[in-house]
Amino acid sequence: MMYQIAIDGPSGAGKSSLAKALAKRLGFIYVDTGALYRTIGYYAASHGANTQNADEVTALLGEITLSLAYEDGTQTVILNGESVGDKIRTPEASMHASNVSKIPAVRTFLLDTQRNIAEKNSVIMDGRDIGTVILPKAQVKIFLVSSFETRAMRRVKELKEKGIEASYEDVLADMIARDRQDATREIAPAVPAEDAVHLDNSLLTFDETVEAAMAIIAPRIGLV
Ligand code: C5P
Repeated sequence: MMYQIAIDGPSGAGKSSLAKALAKRLGFIYVDTGALYRTIGYYAASHGANTQNADEVTALLGEITLSLAYEDGTQTVILNGESVGDKIRTPEASMHASNVSKIPAVRTFLLDTQRNIAEKNSVIMDGRDIGTVILPKAQVKIFLVSSFETRAMRRVKELKEKGIEASYEDVLADMIARDRQDATREIAPAVPAEDAVHLDNSLLTFDETVEAAMAIIAPRIGLV
């Protein structure tokens, strides 16, 4: 039996840390779908395209071959044969990702990559439209949220750990702008699926969040 777990929600809610921990615990493959949009945004920006311009970005898609690789359970995106690493993690790359993710051709381009991996493996996938568009039949759908302040503080810390300096104010402003763009776009907006379970972790520690998610997941995949 193959299982699909969708974790959606706004940026900085802690989806990737949670999904990684759950994947390890369950022995599922963790798929970070934001990395795919980040890679397209990064490629487009570094090839001189305006990431807000659908025609310019769409014209480049033919040059791009993407795949996901796993080393010790950690996902990396392979772009035209080379690992992109942390280049896609900068604040600029976040905004480029959000810009290109509004473009229908980009979402279509990435659809198969995401669905193919879920066909062959039990997956826990994090993104914005996993429960609504990519894996509408997922056995478990969690919509993870937390307050803006908590999310911005976490993101600053996460960037610092990667050696990227960013101020709390800048990160908060970027986050508000990106959330608004993601939630209000016409195609695959970042909204919860009707059957998603909401989990707010503003007041929870990481371990408590993992336990709360396990309590949602376990009965749905026959673990209890
Ligand atoms: O999750 P992450 O912050 O890496 O995602 C970067 C951007 O990619 C998001 O702001 C969103 O615009 C886009 N995205 C998306 N659909 C997904 C995952 C990410 O539109 N499934």
